[in-house]
Amino acid sequence: MTVHDVIVVGAGAGGSAAASLLARQGIDVLLIDQSAPPRDTVRSDGLMPQGIYWLERLGCVREVLAEAKGCIKGCDLYLDGRHLLTGRFPDDSRYPDFALLVLRRRFNEIMQAHAVASGARFAGRTTVRAVARDGEVVRVFADTGRKTVEHRARIVIGADGASSVVSRSIGNNLKDGVLGLSVRTTYAGVKCDAGIRVYFNRDYFPSYGWMFIDEHQTACVGVGCAVDPKFPPTDKLGSALRQFIDSDLKVTLADARRIGPFSGGIAPHFRPEAMTADGVLLIGDAACQADPLNRGGIHTAIESAFYAADACHLALDAGDFSRAALARYEALWSAHSEPDWRTSEIFMSLAKNPGLKELVLFLLEQVGTLGEADPRFGGFASGVFSGVVSQSSWLSVRALSEAVPKDPAAWAALLRENSRSKKSVAAGSVRLLAGAIASAARGGAGLARRPGASLDWALEVLTKAATFADRRLSAPRAVASPEN
Ligand SMILES: Cc1cc2nc3c(=O)[nH]c(=O)nc-3n(C[C@H](O)[C@H](O)[C@H](O)COP(=O)(O)OP(=O)(O)OC[C@H]3O[C@@H](n4cnc5c(N)ncnc54)[C@H](O)[C@@H]3O)c2cc1C
Repeated sequence: MTVHDVIVVGAGAGGSAAASLLARQGIDVLLIDQSAPPRDTVRSDGLMPQGIYWLERLGCVREVLAEAKGCIKGCDLYLDGRHLLTGRFPDDSRYPDFALLVLRRRFNEIMQAHAVASGARFAGRTTVRAVARDGEVVRVFADTGRKTVEHRARIVIGADGASSVVSRSIGNNLKDGVLGLSVRTTYAGVKCDAGIRVYFNRDYFPSYGWMFIDEHQTACVGVGCAVDPKFPPTDKLGSALRQFIDSDLKVTLADARRIGPFSGGIAPHFRPEAMTADGVLLIGDAACQADPLNRGGIHTAIESAFYAADACHLALDAGDFSRAALARYEALWSAHSEPDWRTSEIFMSLAKNPGLKELVLFLLEQVGTLGEADPRFGGFASGVFSGVVSQSSWLSVRALSEAVPKDPAAWAALLRENSRSKKSVAAGSVRLLAGAIASAARGGAGLARRPGASLDWALEVLTKAATFADRRLSAPRAVASPEN
């Protein structure tokens, strides 16, 4: 039986990128997916600037640009139905200053075709059921609908998404933590400009809504939330979506018609026990690498493919496929992406406690108002939310002090906005202070209402912060990225 150098399970963004990178170095790669051609997964179509950056390095950005149904320069933030902030993607980061809307099915087709053009072999309609290491090879057992087949490789890359069979095969439990749930649908005839809109509303918080509107007036509309066993949701996500559509989107969708079903997706937002094992490594959603704050995971999947391909290349050269030999993958991920992922995870952990709803929304309102008054700060705030600005910069005193508005006019605007008349700075200062005290007090009362869960939660947040600090201090200083 042929023993491939690498089998990649899953031809989504991450798997196809890994297969392309390996195959073009002359490595024998078999790319397997349960569907062929790639099916339209329950996902949205936003490709963040980071994704465009990584696609350029992969060599298929032109094909993706040709399919784009919208080129978006920023993101609009709404709170309780009120427009709060238009944040532009910054033009001084290493990423482009725009995002794209591309149909996910077409995007996956382009990625898979790129892998095949790079030299990977593709086996579609092949559902992997189990993966097992046997001596120096990894055996992959799959189902083609007609028969059961076995493939063998020296290394298997698990890129099979949130319900990864490969991840479970190496002992991970995929339901043992916070899960990001989303429901979405599609509308045609939406009468507003192409763009990305994000909605927070106290009626359905901690869920939040989004709308991606393309240039053909088709919109992907959805809500997402982080579900933690400590804080079981009081409402179903479907009713949050209905509330979102009936309130925030009532006017925008008045003349639009729904053209897609309501469909849901899931993404684990906790680190699996292991990202590597002997002969196996996990990338993208299979390794839970999507951003816990904004749920974007296309770019993290492609980025991790670069690190995985680099580690595989070295392991194949050395003829050593042990976990220790694949540790370079984890080192690259830890050095380049882990700090932002961890920061994002801490933000999500703070916001998921329903007791802190008023405090979180109060802070969001102030950040949004200040960002609208000072576009540079607005770019920073929305850049952190989208991940274009390093999320860990929120924890850097220097980055924060650079971002905070220096113009007194911006602060005066914030104070005025807080006054009832929207005119008086003095009245606004008093109301801002009163609002801060009231929302902090409500936060305290919210935590006290559920002392057991709150204590658990506080310990969780502190542990995450301590783990993060510890990793930062002990992280290798420089591990060059293999992106070029
Ligand atoms: C509702 C929703 C909306 C989202 N919207 C966005 C967005 O707009 N922008 C963004 O950046 N991110 C978004 N995300 C996150 C993003 O979709 C994922 O993080 C990203 O797709 C991860 O890529 P991946 O290659 O790791 O996995 P996937 O894209 O999930 O690909 C996994 C592949 O593996 C295949 N597969 C699975 N199991 C098997 C098996 N047993 N055998 C063989 N093949 C298998 C699947 O068919 C699939 O092709 C969204 C997520 C959800 C749930």
